[in-house]
Amino acid sequence: MRKWGWGVIVVLLLVGCQQPAVELSLPTLMPVAALPAAPMATLPATMDLNMDVATAVPLASPPATSTPLTVITLAPDPELTPLPDLPSENRFTCRTEATLTAVSPIWIVRPGPWPRPAAAAGLLGHYPDTGLKLLHLGFDVEGDPYFVGDLLDVLDKRQVKTTMFVLGSWADTYPEWVQEFARRGHELATHGYSHADMSSMTASQISAELRDTEFSINSLTGQTTKPWLRPPFGSYSETSVQAAYAAGYTTVIWTGSANDWRSGMDADKMCATLRYYASPGAILYAHTNRAEVVTAVDRFIAEMQDAGYTFVPLSLLLADDPADWLQRVEVED
Ligand SMILES: [Zn+2]
Repeated sequence: MRKWGWGVIVVLLLVGCQQPAVELSLPTLMPVAALPAAPMATLPATMDLNMDVATAVPLASPPATSTPLTVITLAPDPELTPLPDLPSENRFTCRTEATLTAVSPIWIVRPGPWPRPAAAAGLLGHYPDTGLKLLHLGFDVEGDPYFVGDLLDVLDKRQVKTTMFVLGSWADTYPEWVQEFARRGHELATHGYSHADMSSMTASQISAELRDTEFSINSLTGQTTKPWLRPPFGSYSETSVQAAYAAGYTTVIWTGSANDWRSGMDADKMCATLRYYASPGAILYAHTNRAEVVTAVDRFIAEMQDAGYTFVPLSLLLADDPADWLQRVEVED
């Protein structure tokens, strides 16, 4: 068993709140006074509602409309420090698909279902290094479905199982793809139902979003989406995090993403961006609605597998004994 369990879960506290800190069942909460406040930032005044805009520094970017929040961590974690806007492409160049064709993973994940942890009353954006070089690259599933099949083929080719954060309204529109995620052995999770900003929702509205999405995905696949919620735009409030927790969900943000929603991002830049954010325990994501993502993900996975990393579904990243779920790949001479 790991001793630190949920140690990296980030806890939300209201700035200037007169009430005690959010009540937690976590064992190792650090004194509030010892923790640095994350710098505050705001989202752009106009947001493209098809995109998650808070990717670059999500922990420091609560939307302007929400209650001001300070994010604190339960343990020192440099990965949670806000990162520069975009990486240096020179340092993080990905090789070409042709060069990476022969790369094979060292370990692959045994078929699921994998043990899903209980929900936590905080934000999850990174997990500590287990010494196994585990990495999670999940997908927010929304918008155009045209590239989903190619993306699933890339994941199969690279022998990767992951977690799909599906928008509930998308699941109702494209049920056959949601069933295909399950058939290909991926874990399902929720991205809410309507893609509205959860930081401005009431607890009952959030509960309805989660309930409706769970109903759709569970009806289609038999899988639950619990405990994984990635809120649209990475946008959250103390109310949203607590409402999600009450409904059985941990609010998942990220260590970094492909920044695929940004203008001017081609496959080279997306792959370089993912490499920039990659580290043991990292929680990364991309969207499924861009053609360039398919190529970028193919190359990124190969680069990391070549460096000894194993991609896992989010539940396995947090499993007590993830090594029990890994299987060594036999390489023929
Ligand atoms: Zn989204």
